[in-house]
Amino acid sequence: MRYDNSPPSPESGSSISPDRPWYTRRSTLAVAAAVLAPTCLAGWVLTHALAGAGPGEPQARVAPLPASHSAHADADGKSSASPSAPASPLASASASASASASTPAAAPNPLAGRTVVIDPGHNTGNFQHSREINRQVDIGTNRKECDTTGTTTNSGYMEAEFTMDVSRRLRTVLEARGLKVVFTHEAGPERPWGPCIDERARIGNGAKADAVVSVHADGVSEGSRGYHVILPAKVKGGSADTAKIVGPSRQLGERIASNFARTTGSGPANYLGSGTGLVVRDDLGGLNLSTQPKVFIECGNMRDAKDAALLTNPQWRQKAAQGIADGIVGFLGG
Ligand code: ZN
Repeated sequence: MRYDNSPPSPESGSSISPDRPWYTRRSTLAVAAAVLAPTCLAGWVLTHALAGAGPGEPQARVAPLPASHSAHADADGKSSASPSAPASPLASASASASASASTPAAAPNPLAGRTVVIDPGHNTGNFQHSREINRQVDIGTNRKECDTTGTTTNSGYMEAEFTMDVSRRLRTVLEARGLKVVFTHEAGPERPWGPCIDERARIGNGAKADAVVSVHADGVSEGSRGYHVILPAKVKGGSADTAKIVGPSRQLGERIASNFARTTGSGPANYLGSGTGLVVRDDLGGLNLSTQPKVFIECGNMRDAKDAALLTNPQWRQKAAQGIADGIVGFLGG
């Protein structure tokens, strides 16, 4: 993106520029008088100008008069309606009727009363709490670390910063649509690390969420680019049983993937998923323990310079949040 083209100065068209000839300044005054004066005077000015009054005064200078005004003045030499007069009663009635016709009837908002849980991946404090986040937790099918630090860009922008920023933008969009939004955590002093992946899942379950999205960015090799959405595999073991969420989670994930591609312009990951932008996994506790439709989205690769340029750009993150939100709203029938 270029930043070296400054916009034209708003003062370049000033009518009081001292280097303009005296007659153009007088011309400007004549136009101002025509607009502001009573309509009979305006008519006189128009007639006078058209007759070539004033040395070198271009007739085009009269053009800014409102069209309806000059049309009346041209037709009969006097104006029957001021430029600010309201439209005819017929036109007003017509405009009013069309306005009410375009106002939708009070249909119930299909999103009202629905709950979305947003899970900002990792936590910026995890780096300082390696003992806590390395503790093993039960994910039903296996045991796994409570949480991980996440990745960073080569310049040090943390995945956990990215996920929280996108999640907050996402919350704003969803709440504006009337959805209730619950976060698994807000980081900050009350949550210096984690939550653990099993707790993240339980928060979505406890909220009886209609949709849960865990926001991430990947950390793989340079040249690997693009987004992918991770869907839960069908698993059963211990407290994990995803049979009921596999289908709806796929629908949610497909909606998010297509909308994310549309709003960001990013392509599906070129390093997994066979170009579909969709990957099924059976090893993520946050999916295995979920009883609600849930997906992860890996928005891009923080270790690729081109993807990192997107992920660190706030405007791009807004597009990412909008795409995820559009996918959720579509899934919920909004
Ligand atoms: Zn992650």
